[in-house]
Amino acid sequence: MKTFCGRANPTTGAMEWLEEDENYDYHQEIARSRYADMLHDKDRNEKYYQGIRAAVSRVKERGEKAIVLDIGTGTGLLSMMAASAGADFCYAVEVFKPMADAAVKIVEKNGFCDKIKVINKHSTEVTVGPDGDMQCRANILVTELFDTELIGEGALPTYEHAHKYLVQEGCEAVPHRATVYVQLVESKRMWAWNKLFPVHVEAEDGEKIIVSPSEMENCPGVPSVCDIQLNQMPSSDFTVLSDVITMFSVDFSKPVRSASTYYRVQLEPVKSGKAQIVLSWWDIDMDPSGMINCTMAPYWVKPTSSFQWRDHWMQCVYFLPNEEPVLQGEKLYLTASRDEYSLWYKLQKAREEENKADVRVESPVCRCQAHLLWNRPRFGQLNDKNRTHQYVKSLMKVLKADSVCLCVSDGSLLPVLAHYLGAKQVQYLLMLLLQFFKANHLEDKIKIIEARPELLTSSHLEDKKISVLVGEPFFTTSLLPWHNLYFWYARTAMTSHLTSDVTILPQSASLHMMIVEFQDLWRIRSPCGTCEGFDVQTMDDMINNSLNFRESKEAEPHPLWEYPCKSLSDPQKVLTFDFRKTVPQHCLSTEGSVNLFRKGKSHGAVLWMEYHLAADISVSTGLVQISNDKVILQSNSLCQRNPHCKQAVYFFSSLTESETLSDLPNVVTYAINFNTKTGEIAMDFKL
Ligand code: SAH
Repeated sequence: MKTFCGRANPTTGAMEWLEEDENYDYHQEIARSRYADMLHDKDRNEKYYQGIRAAVSRVKERGEKAIVLDIGTGTGLLSMMAASAGADFCYAVEVFKPMADAAVKIVEKNGFCDKIKVINKHSTEVTVGPDGDMQCRANILVTELFDTELIGEGALPTYEHAHKYLVQEGCEAVPHRATVYVQLVESKRMWAWNKLFPVHVEAEDGEKIIVSPSEMENCPGVPSVCDIQLNQMPSSDFTVLSDVITMFSVDFSKPVRSASTYYRVQLEPVKSGKAQIVLSWWDIDMDPSGMINCTMAPYWVKPTSSFQWRDHWMQCVYFLPNEEPVLQGEKLYLTASRDEYSLWYKLQKAREEENKADVRVESPVCRCQAHLLWNRPRFGQLNDKNRTHQYVKSLMKVLKADSVCLCVSDGSLLPVLAHYLGAKQVQYLLMLLLQFFKANHLEDKIKIIEARPELLTSSHLEDKKISVLVGEPFFTTSLLPWHNLYFWYARTAMTSHLTSDVTILPQSASLHMMIVEFQDLWRIRSPCGTCEGFDVQTMDDMINNSLNFRESKEAEPHPLWEYPCKSLSDPQKVLTFDFRKTVPQHCLSTEGSVNLFRKGKSHGAVLWMEYHLAADISVSTGLVQISNDKVILQSNSLCQRNPHCKQAVYFFSSLTESETLSDLPNVVTYAINFNTKTGEIAMDFKL
C-alpha cells in the first residue's frame, strides 16, 4: 500500500505530496535506531548478564521457579541471557512490531523457542491468567527502558503498572536500582545555549549594544533536557561549583510511583561563582548489593580505565531558571522536580528554603518565545562573537545609506545589525522575535512582513525595490546543512522585487566534504554479529535492509564536535551555489576523487556548508580548523568542528555491510548530485 504524506520541502519551501510506502516510517525508525549502539555497548551487556545471572540464582536458592518478565525486549537479548542463566520461562514483551518479529526470529535461531515467549504488546496491555499472555506473574523483572534522562522513555509508568499487575510482590529486579547524580557548574559556553548575551556592534557612529528583552532575561526556558556527550566538553569550558551530589534513587524491585514529585538536597558550594547549570547523569546497580554498577559518570568523575563510549545514554545539561551568584560554603538547596517523563531543577538559598510553600513542582514554561524559536545550538550560534563579527564586517561593506534591505532568515538578528550599520530601511521576512525589536526600540525602524517569499507583493515593500538582500541563512526547518539553501529559493521567488544591481549576502555558498575515520561514531552503523555469545545477525540484516530501503542512501545530521574524527583526506569543495543568480532549472552535479593521505579506516564522508558573505569573508558551518602539528597528528589529530551546527555524515556501505572495512584505499571516488527541483542531494562513494 502507498500513502501520501504532505510536507513542506525544507530546501525548496514547496508544499509537496510524497508518495510514501507505508513501511517508510518503520524503516526510518529502524535505520536510525539505537539498537546497534546498545548491542555494541559491552559494558552495559556484561553487567546486565551478571545481574541477570545473580537474580536467577537468588530465586533458585529460594527453591522457586524463575519466571522472567522482560519489558521492551528489543532483539530478545536480555531474555536470552535469562534463559541461558537457567530461568524456567521468560515473557519477552515488545511493543514495536518489527522488533517483536525480529525477536521471534532471533530467539528461534539461538534455540530458545521453548523458554521464551515474545509478546508483541505494550506492557500495559499484557494479560495474566490461564488464558492470558502470561500464565502467572513473574518473579524476576528485567528491563532496559532508560534514556539519557533515565525516565524520558516512560520507565516510571511502565514499572508502576508492572508492579501492580505483572510481577509478584518481592520480585527481583534487574536493574535493582537507579541513582541520579548532579553537579552544579558555571559555564559560559553552556549558558550561551540558554540566554542571549548582549551583542556589541561597532558602528560608524559609535558602539551599539543589542540587548535582550527583559522577558528573555527572566525566562525559565523550556523543560526539555539537553543531552550531550559531556565527555567532549573540555574541563576549561566549565567551573565545578559543587561536589557530585546524589539527587535521588529509584528501587525497581518495589512498587514505583510515577506521579509528579520533587527531591531536595542541601549543598555547600566548593567554590564561589555563578550557579548556572546542573550537570546530571545516572548509574544503575544490577544487584541489591551494588557490586554490579553501570555508570554514565563523565570523565572527571570516573577513572578513564572503565570508560565505555555509547550514544544511546549520554549526560544531561539542565539550565537553572536564572543564574545565581553563590558563595563557597554557603547553605543552598537544590530541588529536582519531575513529572512522569521529565526533570527540572531549582536552586534556593537556605533562607528562601524556609518558606516551604515556595517549592515549585510545575514545569517551567518559556515566556519569551525565544526558547521556542531558537534551539540550544542556535542560541550558541547567535552568541558567537566571532561569527557576528564576520556578518558585521560584511554588512559594512555592502550597505549604503539609501539601501533598502530585506532579511530572509528565521529568528535572526541581522535586521538589527543592518539597521545599526546604516541601512535606512530594513524589512524582515519569516519567523521573528517582535519583543526583540521592541526591547531595542526598533519596532518602527524595522518592518516585519508576514508573507512567504513567493507571495511577496510590491505593496508589502511600499513599491520599493530591494537593493540588499541578506540572510544568515538559517531556517528552523533545516536538518541537513544544505536545507538552508532555502535562502536561494526564496531569493529566486523574489527576483522581480530586487533591483538590477542587487547585492545578495551571502553571495554564494559551497558544499565541502572530507573523508574521515571516526573515533566512536562508526559503532552506531556497524554490524554486531554476535552479542555476549548470542547471534543477533537478524538485527544487522534488518537495519541494513532499512538503510537500503530507498535507492540512494541518505546522509544524516550529527553535531560533530561531540563525535571526534580524524581526517583521512583534505577538505574538498564539491559544489558551489551562486545566490547572485537564480536557482537553475538543471541539476548541479559533480564527480571526482579524493586522495587519502593517511592510514585509517574510511568510515564515511562529512559534509558541511560554507557561506561566502562578501569578498574574502566566509563563515563555515563545519570544519573550523585542522590541527597540523605532527605530534598531535600521530595521537589524535582531531578536527575542530563548528560547535553550533550539525554536519551531514554519509556512512560508507562497506561499514554497514561487513566487518571487513577496506583499510587502505588510496582514493575515494564520489558522485554528488543536487537536484534543483527536489532540493535533495544524492551521493555515491566508491572506495
Ligand atoms: N531489551 C533490549 C532493547 C532495549 S530498547 C536490550 O536491552 O538490548 C527498549 C525497547 O523497549 C524498545 O524496543 C521499545 O520499543 C520497547 N518498549 C519501551 N517501553 C515498552 C513497554 N512499556 N512495553 C513494551 N515495549 C516497550
